[in-house]
Amino acid sequence: MNPNWSQFYSEGPEILQYFKTVVQRFNLDSYFRLSHVITGAFWDPDRGQWDVNVQDLQTGKTFVDRCDIFINCSGILNAWDWPKIKGLHSFEGKLCHTADYDTSTDLSSKKVAVIGIGSSGVQVIPKIVDQVEHLYCWIRSSSWMTAGFAQKYARPNGANFKYTDEQKTAFSLNPKAYLEYCKNLEKEISANVKMIQTGTPEAKQARIPGNGFLEALTLNKVTTYLTGVKEITPKGFLDPDGREQEVDVIICATGYDTSWVPRFPIVANGTNLQDIQAKRPISYLSLAVPQMPNYFMIGGPYFSFGHGSYTTMVELFMDNILAVVAKMQKDNIKHLSPTQDATDAFIEHADLWLKRTAWAGDCPSWFKNGTRNGTLTIFPGSCLVLADLVSTPRYEDYDISYWSGNRFAALGNGFSTVEYEEGADAAWYWETRDGLLPSS
Ligand SMILES: Cc1cc2nc3c(=O)[nH]c(=O)nc-3n(C[C@H](O)[C@H](O)[C@H](O)COP(=O)(O)OP(=O)(O)OC[C@H]3O[C@@H](n4cnc5c(N)ncnc54)[C@H](O)[C@@H]3O)c2cc1C
Repeated sequence: MNPNWSQFYSEGPEILQYFKTVVQRFNLDSYFRLSHVITGAFWDPDRGQWDVNVQDLQTGKTFVDRCDIFINCSGILNAWDWPKIKGLHSFEGKLCHTADYDTSTDLSSKKVAVIGIGSSGVQVIPKIVDQVEHLYCWIRSSSWMTAGFAQKYARPNGANFKYTDEQKTAFSLNPKAYLEYCKNLEKEISANVKMIQTGTPEAKQARIPGNGFLEALTLNKVTTYLTGVKEITPKGFLDPDGREQEVDVIICATGYDTSWVPRFPIVANGTNLQDIQAKRPISYLSLAVPQMPNYFMIGGPYFSFGHGSYTTMVELFMDNILAVVAKMQKDNIKHLSPTQDATDAFIEHADLWLKRTAWAGDCPSWFKNGTRNGTLTIFPGSCLVLADLVSTPRYEDYDISYWSGNRFAALGNGFSTVEYEEGADAAWYWETRDGLLPSS
């Protein structure tokens, strides 16, 4: 929790600064290697370890790192590419992609085209519309709109607002009340998932938060085309009537490669996870994959991508993984991975449940790898169901192999470590409920 957010809907630079503060506070940077890319991970069944191939992007040098447990947090919305539009790279003005945006781009009094109105486009358009001379918006397929998540706590019509110094001081001085405020926001955001169940009253509401987006489209200086761009020219683009429109800047808000195929080979016992995911994206609770020992993911197929706060779920998944790691250390486990049975059952349930949702409709979505009718790979239920599901590891769903042939070998010489530690609590299991002694 951070009582110092400057405004209700935070913006990118402030969120980045917040994460940097967290890194500093917990001294995390000593564990990071920036400007290094992982190019492959290979399981060694004898050592029970992953060999991870790493390249230092600054020196070009490569080396192999090793780990007992490999947690892949490489994200899903980060592999971007230019859209395949005829003539795109013949454009002589400034060509940008939202995923790699040059913030020094001067848009004032410029003619600008924005391609796409997914999550990126609907945020970009209202942000730049006041600066530009004329804006051309290309809308190939429809998006559902809402004024913003948790908008009942925002200003009228879901508008953003700045917290006053008095509010920030009050948040700092009264952590209990601030926690309550944060929880209320979280509850509002998580409840949004009800909207995606077809036929429910909530479904009549909308999906993508787009403060000011629809208003922007109504301005005289904005021209909207309800079709895909056919051709870009050196000076601009051809409009739907085939006339050339000249622009200074083209912004592609056209999304990412969301194919679920890992960007680098992840190979265990002759099986490459890239091949598994290319055939059909799978996961066990979006947490792990059968046949991949000691391998976990954050944000894999079937994660809660459209349900609520991503960050909250990341933390809950990490708690689950850390609980598994603690058990592996304590019980002397060499490797574990979810069973195929448990994974198949989860996917069967997910596929059936997801049929009830608006996402299953005849519409393109990155939840379906950009296709209209492809496999939906998001969590089948609300954030609360997912939080409950991952709150305790379900070891009954795992194949477990121990370092010793006897699973009780970790009992060792029959004595607990606390029996050897000076000052350790050798009666830790004694406790009183609610800190109270029973009345005599
Ligand atoms: C326009 C837009 C709006 C969004 N809005 C919201 C929102 O309002 N709320 C929300 O919860 N989510 C939102 N999201 C989703 C957002 O992607 C997630 O919230 C969050 O950023 C995902 O975090 P992550 O750590 O899983 O992945 P990322 O943030 O993508 O981080 C992955 C990291 O792994 C690194 N990496 C990848 N491959 C390798 C490799 N081979 N070697 C080394 N490093 C590698 C990447 O460089 C990156 O630093 C939005 C996304 C977009 C694009």
